[in-house]
Parts: sequence; structure tokens; C-alpha cells
Amino acid sequence: MSELRELYQDMILDHGKAPRNFGTLDNADREAHGDNPLCGDRITVWLHMDGDTVQDISFEGQGCAISMASSSMMTEIVKGKSEDKVKAMFESFHHMIMGEEPGDGTEKNAIDPDDMDRLMVLAGVKQFPMRVKCATLAWHTVNAALEGKEAISTEDEGGMEQRKV
Ligand code: ZN
Repeated sequence: MSELRELYQDMILDHGKAPRNFGTLDNADREAHGDNPLCGDRITVWLHMDGDTVQDISFEGQGCAISMASSSMMTEIVKGKSEDKVKAMFESFHHMIMGEEPGDGTEKNAIDPDDMDRLMVLAGVKQFPMRVKCATLAWHTVNAALEGKEAISTEDEGGMEQRKV
């Protein structure tokens, strides 16, 4: 567990210092804003789709180290994936971070082992319950963009953190 914690902290620091895919996307065809009022994290995610594949993705925002690192890691994991895969990853990540079963086999098999490892590192934040919304904000926001929603808030009625699955 301490190894995982170290790896997790290294990744947070690394991505926090040098966020990947940071900036606007000129040819974006989808865009969503995410807001985590509890912590003051705000991000915008841009997607450029090729059919149902996320060909390019970027984000901008401000907030705590965890929200920024999580956004940076999310863009790396999501880039090049199909819409279905991104949704499966969002569901799995959410289950992991809430300490629930990772979902049924179909969902789990949709995720490449490499990506699953990275998601699990990111899910290490569940050791810090106050930070769960910081870590999930980026995933809520990319999911909203895929669903054609313009904005989401982690405090929305029916938000996943309130939902008992
Ligand atoms: Zn935060």
C-alpha cells in the first residue's frame, strides 16, 4: 500500500507540475465545463472527435493539485479511445474510487490493462475522502462533453457521488 501511495504521489506531483494536453483545442467539436464548488476546482475539457473516437483532447482549469493532476492523467488515458471505452472507464474508475465492486465483466474487459493500472493509481485518492470529487471532476466533465452537456457540477442533484448504485 505504501508503494502505491508513493507512486500515486509521484504521479500527482509530475502531472501537477507539467500538465499534459493543457490549453484550448482549435478544432474542438465538443466542449464542457466542470465545477467542483466544494474545493473551488474549475476545468474546461475540449474534444475533437473522429467518428466515435476521441482523436484529440485538451483541458484548462484551475484548482487543487489533485484536480489538475487527475485532469492531466484523464486526457492521456482518454486520447485515442472510443466513446464507449471512455464511458466504461468512467464507470470503472467511479466504482474503484467509491470502493465498490469494479462492475461487471463487460465493463472491465473494455479497459486495456495499462489503462487499468493508471486508473487504479488515480483511484488511490479514495484514501482521502475529501478529495474524491477533486479526482472525479475531470471524468464527469469529459463524460458530459461526450453526452453533449455544456456544464456539470459535482454538487448537481443526482450527481454520481450522491447516487447510491
Ligand atoms: Zn480540489
